[in-house]
Amino acid sequence: MKIAVVGGGIYGVTISLELSDTGHNVDLFEKEDEIMTAASSINQWRLHRGYHYPRSDETAESCRRNEPLFKDYFEDAVVSDTEHHYCIASNRTKTTPDEFVAHCEKHNLHYDQTNLDLVNDERVALTVRVEEDRVDPYRLKRNCRRRLDESEVTVHLDTPVSVDDGTLNDYDHVVVATYANSNRTLNGADALRRDLKFQLVEKPVVELPKRFHRKSVVVMDGPFMCFDPYGRTGNFLLGHVVHAVHSTIVGQEPQYDDIFGPMLNAGIVEDPPVTNFEKFRRSGANYIPGLAEAEHIGSMFTIRAVLPNVEGTDKRPTVLNQSDRVTRVFSGKFVNCVEAANTIVERLTGLTRNNSPSGPER
Ligand SMILES: Cc1cc2nc3c(=O)[nH]c(=O)nc-3n(C[C@H](O)[C@H](O)[C@H](O)COP(=O)(O)OP(=O)(O)OC[C@H]3O[C@@H](n4cnc5c(N)ncnc54)[C@H](O)[C@@H]3O)c2cc1C
Repeated sequence: MKIAVVGGGIYGVTISLELSDTGHNVDLFEKEDEIMTAASSINQWRLHRGYHYPRSDETAESCRRNEPLFKDYFEDAVVSDTEHHYCIASNRTKTTPDEFVAHCEKHNLHYDQTNLDLVNDERVALTVRVEEDRVDPYRLKRNCRRRLDESEVTVHLDTPVSVDDGTLNDYDHVVVATYANSNRTLNGADALRRDLKFQLVEKPVVELPKRFHRKSVVVMDGPFMCFDPYGRTGNFLLGHVVHAVHSTIVGQEPQYDDIFGPMLNAGIVEDPPVTNFEKFRRSGANYIPGLAEAEHIGSMFTIRAVLPNVEGTDKRPTVLNQSDRVTRVFSGKFVNCVEAANTIVERLTGLTRNNSPSGPER
């Protein structure tokens, strides 16, 4: 088949590589002058194994299943030198320590209960050390670029397209993997458009004292925070469930204040005119006192797209919807990209054999 893949994030790249490897003729369209500039460049880079989702068995299982596939596929981008800790807060947590332990046991997730000097014991009821890895975003991007160069995929940078755009008329099938921009890209395939929850999120990059090095801590399960080493830069990424979000809208497309426009998907912005960094630092220091010493290097801004109305479980499924000529990819976690690519290959190979869509909506 002649296939157009729209969106050069980790999903579009992996899907293009796998389709091309199976013998399809693939064109990859990316609107920016570079691949991997949006959510696949700006996120927390945690290679989730399932610990993070104690309220969703479905998401925990999909992480458990997908983590080895991702590690195998992108081996040189995986960083395994870090001590990963999950902490359950003493108050306001949606998962109790006992429930968290039961979750780990149910999903066969190994953990060691521990004491961590960095943590404020008055605010944290349980700390466990776990076996998890993270991803180096720079190596991942290099890996993707190299594989695309070595493949038969034709990459069109600086080329925004949509389904109703004449550019895509000649293709047997179109795969839309444009995440936060998916509804706009699906103009012309309106049955596949979905309401999503769009959040404009800030990811501060900070320097932390030596005692933080090679450590990663998440405080769960509710309005709390995390820090993780940022690739191999020696710096760290901060996360916060509340303070990371500058605005939220449920609908077809993201909306945000104009001031964020130039900062969106623009890498690390030094001295941004709007930042919640002080809130990250103050609130995080309640749980990890040393975060008070964090030095702000700058912040990254991107749009996060999640399913609406999943606050109860916090589930993050990857959803593939398909019509005769178009597949819509909605990604929950980057860790699921290899499985999604394999599923699309299976479905489209079924299409070429039977000339009809195969496989249910997931
Ligand atoms: C703050 C944050 C933290 C996260 N943390 C984690 C984590 O720790 N672990 C994890 O597994 N996942 C995490 N995620 C989720 C993960 O980042 C995403 O699921 C994944 O990166 C999305 O990849 P994608 O390829 O679908 O989308 P993107 O990377 O957004 O790629 C979409 C691409 O489409 C391009 N595009 C858009 N419109 C068009 C058009 N019309 N024509 C051509 N190109 C177009 C864009 O320029 C972009 O390059 C996080 C996400 C966010 C936002």
